[in-house]
Amino acid sequence: MKTIIVSNRLPVKITNNNGEMEFRQSEGGLATGLGSIYRQGNNMWLGWPGIEAADEENHDEITARLEKMNLYPVFLTQEEISLYYEGFSNETLWPIFHYHPTYARYEQSYWDSYVEVNKKFKEAIFKIAEPGDTIWIHDYQLLLLPGMIRQEQPNITIGFFLHIPFPSYELFRLIPWRAEILDNMLGADLLGFHTFDDVRHFISAVSRILPVHTSANEISYNERVVVAETFPMGIDDKKFESLADSSEVLENAAALRESFGSSKMILSIDRLDYSKGILQRLQAFDILLQKNPEYIEKVFLYMIVVPSRDTVSQYKDLRDEIDKLVGNINARYRTLNWTPVNYYYRSFPVEMLSALYKMAEVCLISPMRDGMNLVSKEYVASRTNNTGVLILSEMAGAAKELIDAVIVNPNNVGEVYRAIIEALNMPLEEQQRRMQAMREVVSKFNIRHWVKIYMDRLQEVKAMQGSMQ
Ligand code: UDP
Repeated sequence: MKTIIVSNRLPVKITNNNGEMEFRQSEGGLATGLGSIYRQGNNMWLGWPGIEAADEENHDEITARLEKMNLYPVFLTQEEISLYYEGFSNETLWPIFHYHPTYARYEQSYWDSYVEVNKKFKEAIFKIAEPGDTIWIHDYQLLLLPGMIRQEQPNITIGFFLHIPFPSYELFRLIPWRAEILDNMLGADLLGFHTFDDVRHFISAVSRILPVHTSANEISYNERVVVAETFPMGIDDKKFESLADSSEVLENAAALRESFGSSKMILSIDRLDYSKGILQRLQAFDILLQKNPEYIEKVFLYMIVVPSRDTVSQYKDLRDEIDKLVGNINARYRTLNWTPVNYYYRSFPVEMLSALYKMAEVCLISPMRDGMNLVSKEYVASRTNNTGVLILSEMAGAAKELIDAVIVNPNNVGEVYRAIIEALNMPLEEQQRRMQAMREVVSKFNIRHWVKIYMDRLQEVKAMQGSMQ
């Protein structure tokens, strides 16, 4: 009996080094957390290796190399990447699930490809799965997979975890294929979400759209009982804690301090996405400099935006808007020795992120919607001396756990502006009290804990179903 982890992307980076393929494990939080599972025995992780399907010969070599790392590839064609991934996943589900219905496109061709690729994943799973195995499926690209597997293997154990928010019924109902999506999600035994509100929204959507019976968080459907529950995802807290005191990070932090002198850093890190509230954040910073000129040369915003999906027009437009607003703020307030917004449109290695987390007096995270938001937890874990202030949007899943942050409504630019002032002036004892409380939460509910409680609960649910038959 083995466990198979399934996600759209495999936790691996394949690069072409002068015709030689190089395989590197990626270091994302999920990969670290699940490492303890998929690397054990004959367990596996199945997903797209992230390179476009080249020739078939290549596939055999990639498959053989990946198998040595307990990874199993599902190859996607260019057309599938554009219709299933960029199309249905990122232009239909993503905007609806993040409360941006005006950005959603309902294209039959996107949906058809989404169904086909989910089937392709199912077929790949059945090449390696045996009765008695446990399958743990991740995220919104694979919502149909639980039902497709269940149809062929009625007794197999299936877990599903959604890493983005599950929206209110009023948004979810807009999707033309809403019933098919829910019907297939209910093929899982245990459906995991980051927050209680996501669970509530999911149960409300299934109750209205499908002929189910629900009792608390148990859903009876097709003579099976499915459980929907909250499992807020954590981070590898120890990694960020020890990085913060490593020599490389200390050097980076010292170099940063030297170039910015004694002015205070407000740190902002996101992927380029309309759900992240980047423009509103810049507006709040603009108001700060406009209304409180005493902060000129005393604070600066260090803003990292990681490139993402910039072939999609809404993302390109957002990038242009950010460029404009940053240019505008810098043009109005900069002095000979000081630039108000230090803006980077690229990604940074974790040693640099860690130095920034260590150095920033304030970390400002104000998404319009975010499933969890790991950056907020990484900042907290890196504050080994318990100082610093986290300003966090109430629309991020993390706000349900990090209640000692300064919590803001990201649409209320005035409130964000006042929160920045509060953070910049917070007495040391209050910073320490809040940060210590948050560090305890981040350390207790870390990624290993998340994996363990999810897997334990999945086995429990399976046992409960068995006893009811
Ligand atoms: N990150 C990174 N390089 C960067 C900026 C961010 O690797 O230059 C990482 C960051 O450490 C975090 C992740 O990207 O683990 C972002 O996760 P989050 O949940 O905050 O947002 P998402 O991008 O998943 O919506």
